[in-house]
Amino acid sequence: MEPIGTRLEKIRATLPQGVSLVAVSKFHPAEAVLEAYAAGQRLFGESRAQELTAKAATLPADIRWHFIGHLQTNKVKPVVAAASLIESIDSERLLMAVDREAERQGKRMDVLLQVHVAREETKFGFSPEELLDLIRRRVFENLKAVHICGLMAMASNTDDTDRVRDDFMKVAALRDEVMRIAPDLRGFDILSMGMSHDYMTAIECGSNMVRVGTAIFGERV
Ligand SMILES: *Cc1c(COP(=O)(O)O)cnc(C)c1O
Repeated sequence: MEPIGTRLEKIRATLPQGVSLVAVSKFHPAEAVLEAYAAGQRLFGESRAQELTAKAATLPADIRWHFIGHLQTNKVKPVVAAASLIESIDSERLLMAVDREAERQGKRMDVLLQVHVAREETKFGFSPEELLDLIRRRVFENLKAVHICGLMAMASNTDDTDRVRDDFMKVAALRDEVMRIAPDLRGFDILSMGMSHDYMTAIECGSNMVRVGTAIFGERV
């Protein structure tokens, strides 16, 4: 396997300006994170609360951690404390729980709303209808500490590029629709889409944040 730094540089070279790279380090040890850190990477993604807090406690303080996994309400506290962006807000109940906790911690918490567009039953997230309903009800106006910065989504897990593109285009259209319904929702400008196998397609569809794990760190153990 190529060194992590080399893989990172190769991926960075393919990213247009304005696209952030989240290095998804879940299930990989701290040493792997430090290798990427030595190659200049400062933005990492984790999907489990315990792993996030363990890594955040011991790894360099200038790392920004994105939480990208399903978040249970009983794990909200440590994740709000450690994450710079929670990408995976998948229910109104969770949104409100994160808001309450962030207010308690005196922290402005940036989040993304996760939308479900993939044709798999198992994925978490708001359906497009639920998302638009949430925006129409202007739930964002009642948030005290949370700021909704955009959308996160995963495409169907398939080699069929047309279908993947179709999923990503749906999310991009939803982002446009949200901005049309709520033009006063400021700073709603992140579109987090694309993983190791489909990030180039995601970027073609308007993604400005890609979450890449395997292509940087190798297979998860
Ligand atoms: C694991 C994970 C990724 C990274 O997937 P790779 O295929 O390893 O690049 C991206 N996004 C989410 C939400 C994930 O859970």
